[in-house]
Amino acid sequence: MINDIATGTGSLLINLKCPGCGAEYDASLTNTFCTNDACKSTLFAQYDLSQPLDKAILKDRPANMWRYRELLPVIDPENIVTMGEGFTPILPIQNLRHFTEGNEVFWKNEAGNPTGSFKARGIGMAVSKAKELGIQTIATPTAGNAGGALAAYAARAGVKAVVYMPKLTPQVFKDECRLYGAQLVEVDGNIADCGKLVAEGAEEKGWFQISTLKEPYRLEGKKTMGFEIAEQFNWQLPDVVFYPTGGGTGLIGIWKAFDELEQIGWIGSKRPRMVAVQSESCNGIVTAFNGGHSNAEFVDGGFTIANGLRVPKSYADKVILKVLRDSKGIALSVSDSEMSAAVKEIARHEGVLMAPEGAALWQAYKKLKSSGWIQPGETIVLVNTGSGYKYLENIEI
Ligand SMILES: *Cc1c(COP(=O)(O)O)cnc(C)c1O
Ligand SMILES: [Zn+2]
Repeated sequence: MINDIATGTGSLLINLKCPGCGAEYDASLTNTFCTNDACKSTLFAQYDLSQPLDKAILKDRPANMWRYRELLPVIDPENIVTMGEGFTPILPIQNLRHFTEGNEVFWKNEAGNPTGSFKARGIGMAVSKAKELGIQTIATPTAGNAGGALAAYAARAGVKAVVYMPKLTPQVFKDECRLYGAQLVEVDGNIADCGKLVAEGAEEKGWFQISTLKEPYRLEGKKTMGFEIAEQFNWQLPDVVFYPTGGGTGLIGIWKAFDELEQIGWIGSKRPRMVAVQSESCNGIVTAFNGGHSNAEFVDGGFTIANGLRVPKSYADKVILKVLRDSKGIALSVSDSEMSAAVKEIARHEGVLMAPEGAALWQAYKKLKSSGWIQPGETIVLVNTGSGYKYLENIEI
């Protein structure tokens, strides 16, 4: 079905653009980040959004992230590597409503994606585009979920995956990489250390690296969460979106999606306030936001049960901080014990076993509600980024 382009147009991709210096890059070539040494910024895919599009193009398209293909970067549908990622459910809070009085609170539940997290969106997009560009070996540093997703999508695409992961990651994240046939390197350090080693290996062996936000297309995959939130709320955006922020790809992507939807006339100018939630052990964005800074410092307080949030410094810290400020949002951190308690509370009362990263949002929501930052009458979306099943060795039952 995804190969049926008769019911609409194809990708409207034009090129890639650096938000720092404005340089444009040819998207038919392999790109990473801006090569201008003064910015080295993440590159953003640009589309021809000058003509309004008819929402009717979505009718009869499959319920996965590829339904928005005009606004996605893969040109030839033959290159799409898919396992049905995306179009995840919106679940209302059911039995914990005494905490949410006055608000409508929903989870966007990413747990059911292939390999159990929303990383399937970004990696599925990056692997598809890499296939289109003829790339043979893809390497990534990972805190866990990106590695599993890369291993799986590379297996399906028939290309080679190399994954660098911290030793202190739960075993299942390592086992799945090996099962999917990736080459796994365990690193005595954090994701930043993994990043350095991948860069060395890539230089030496000619691998293509897809480190978070140093490659343009993972962002385009995660952006589809923004399209879906808009579509699933009938093109009326919620008031607040909570996002567990490591590298920040999803937060930036959701924001980019809303801008693109406005340009094609599918939504108006209303935007949600964006909330970045981090682990207390790695809260560089929170510190920078509270200090009024436009850059984050390197912060690594060591182990956290939310391995996806152990990112000492996001490559796109400036963009994340700008989105938070432009949206009149906020950033806050949550401790491991709070995340663990939230995982259990939500499992027991809502029937959903969440990744600690997702459960952190519940704690953050409660804090912002009791401080009055969340107002009565507001509609809230919490993005549960992954399944809790991979994290069980870190949750005391
Ligand atoms: C990777 C990951 C995150 C952080 O995602 P970013 O978009 O890089 O900030 C959050 N939750 C889970 C479960 C993850 O795997
Ligand atoms: Zn630049």
